[in-house]
Amino acid sequence: MESSFTLGRVRGIKIGVHYTWLLAFVLISWSLASGYFPRQYPGWGGGLYWTVGVAAALMLFASVLAHELCHAFVALSRGLQVRDITLFIFGGVTNITSESENARDEFLIAVVGPLSSLALAGAFWLAAQTVPNDRSPLDASLSYLALVNFSLGVFNILPGFPLDGGRVLRAVLWGTLGSIGRATRIAALVGQGLALLFIAYGFVQILEGDFFGGLWIGFIGWFLNNAADATRRQSRLQEGFRGVKVSQVMQAEPLSVSPGLPVRVLVDDHILGRGARALPVALDGRIVGLVSLTDVKRLPTAEWDRNAVGAIMTRPPLKTVSPREEASRALQLLIDQDVNQLLVVEDGAIVGMLSRGDMMRFLQRREELGLDGDARRR
Ligand SMILES: [Zn+2]
Repeated sequence: MESSFTLGRVRGIKIGVHYTWLLAFVLISWSLASGYFPRQYPGWGGGLYWTVGVAAALMLFASVLAHELCHAFVALSRGLQVRDITLFIFGGVTNITSESENARDEFLIAVVGPLSSLALAGAFWLAAQTVPNDRSPLDASLSYLALVNFSLGVFNILPGFPLDGGRVLRAVLWGTLGSIGRATRIAALVGQGLALLFIAYGFVQILEGDFFGGLWIGFIGWFLNNAADATRRQSRLQEGFRGVKVSQVMQAEPLSVSPGLPVRVLVDDHILGRGARALPVALDGRIVGLVSLTDVKRLPTAEWDRNAVGAIMTRPPLKTVSPREEASRALQLLIDQDVNQLLVVEDGAIVGMLSRGDMMRFLQRREELGLDGDARRR
């Protein structure tokens, strides 16, 4: 998830906020100021409810950030790279760019999340006990934060991927089964089951008259289901590429075109004629860009004769990969960078092109030959 704006950096980790966070912030402040606090603590006066509501909502997000920072710090201490933390409508996401190398690291990174929320709940509860007046706004905020952090801890310990508890389950399965692929798929399946329970519970709440509460739970279920489903599919794909190198999947020695070639000729001869979706653009044997179907589509058809490839191509830096790289890693790059193809480069020279289509066709052929990825588990 791309963050909409950056709050700052902690130990090199970018802390960002997605625009949906603002919606959650407004909703939570509003429900605290006009529902929860007036109901629990009558007689404060309207202005005070809003002050306490906004302050408690801010502290809730600080708690979520602390939870994510705990994941990030453990990941850093295990030698992994953490790119950023993004806060969004359903909480926070810590973006760890390298994969855990063993089940133990994965377990520690995941388990620290719910533990930190439970520890925060305990700290807020203890702080609330030190406040003499238990009807005061300070005591009310601290008690609320204890309650909400406790709920966060319990919610995150549920064993469905992508929740922390699901990651813990995956780590345990990974350790016992010895296959991260199978462990991921089982944990994601449990996650989807859990998500469907959330959706069903949301429906029941709506039928019982709590429209917004039900809708909210339903949305969380929907979000969890999507995330678990995507993880399961991706894991299946990666399994299919186990032990396969980029050089085995790529199109070797791709034809290149010159930047002076008219777009019309590119379309007629290469895209329609040869079924190419992307081509390197070379001048005097040097790669100067990459032209793809997407670049062509941006130009109106009437302009195809008047423009050359050089005017529409994607210029460097281009996304590249080594032919010796694992194909599953290249697939991850295609997904993470949101591109359709990578240039395969060795010692500064182009040796091939690797597209999403090449990867899908490779898997299809393997499937037709009965070479299922699961048959070669490590
Ligand atoms: Zn977490």
